[in-house]
Amino acid sequence: MTVPRFLGEGKIDFHEKPVPEPGAGQLLIEVHANALCGSERGQFYQGTSVTPGHEAAGTVVAAGAGTKTDVGTTGGIFLMDFCGECRNCIAGYTNQCLAKRGDMGFNRDGGYGVYELINENLFFPVDPSYSATEATLLLDVMGTGGHAIKRAKRAHDDIRSILIPGAGPVGLGILAMAKLMLGANVPVVISDVVPYRLELAEKLGGLPVLTSSMSLAEGLKHHGLEAPDVTIDAAGKETVRDECMALLAHRGVIVSVAHGGGLSIKNLYSDFVFREMTLIGSEYFAYQELEENYALLQANRAYLGQVITHRMGVEDIQRAFELFFAGSTGKVIIEQ
Ligand SMILES: [Zn+2]
Ligand SMILES: [Zn+2]
Repeated sequence: MTVPRFLGEGKIDFHEKPVPEPGAGQLLIEVHANALCGSERGQFYQGTSVTPGHEAAGTVVAAGAGTKTDVGTTGGIFLMDFCGECRNCIAGYTNQCLAKRGDMGFNRDGGYGVYELINENLFFPVDPSYSATEATLLLDVMGTGGHAIKRAKRAHDDIRSILIPGAGPVGLGILAMAKLMLGANVPVVISDVVPYRLELAEKLGGLPVLTSSMSLAEGLKHHGLEAPDVTIDAAGKETVRDECMALLAHRGVIVSVAHGGGLSIKNLYSDFVFREMTLIGSEYFAYQELEENYALLQANRAYLGQVITHRMGVEDIQRAFELFFAGSTGKVIIEQ
């Protein structure tokens, strides 16, 4: 099969790889859609021998011994190859597996290839009336977004406002899931420096703040809000995280989904202890969450579909990445 090769320095060409054969417990998926993700920046600029793509969906074309999934079934592929047997997997925290076998698209060939070989436990089947492109919404958009909201709810039992710095696809996913899980009436302020993203955020019900023209504090005020109860960081900048920490209400919760930068708490008592703040990390999501998110997708198909703004063929993958990293897109999907 001819698959994209990430050479580094922002260049992608194509090369040949053999079509893998499913062993016991494995499925061979013909990939029909894979969403681009900001976390692929490293692969795009540094290069990799692995075929990237970790937001994939497609159809089962061959099934190894001992599997239960029928050939012809369409579904999404969970990124983390969890063991299913460790303490964390048994407790339902499959995103915190202690014996993870790999990460699809990072250290195992992923969804930009024609075919992807997976262990069956990573496959999440959907009804044939859903396209593979729609099924990718269950992954980073709904999965990662919804998990961050659940992490916040664990630490705060009456969330009345949310601030999301960063309106890239991760921020948009958090916004959409906040609206669906907390109710449309809970105001969600979302900031970015890219006007295109904020227009999209507004369509999803977010209150936009263009941070190239006003501060987060001014943005909150502009929308008639004061200190937010929760901030979910999708920007990954230390200065922004510090700004959010200072803005939060008493009992405030800061959830970090973004990876970049740090967080500085200069005076532990006055900045953190006194207001009884909570700081939480949120990494991807657990496989078990796919079921409830699938129910939300079924009920809000058109609303969630707005997050996808571009669909391109795999032959255009170079252009797709350039467009995506230039910033003026929602989710970009490679279809094949
Ligand atoms: Zn991703
Ligand atoms: Zn495990």
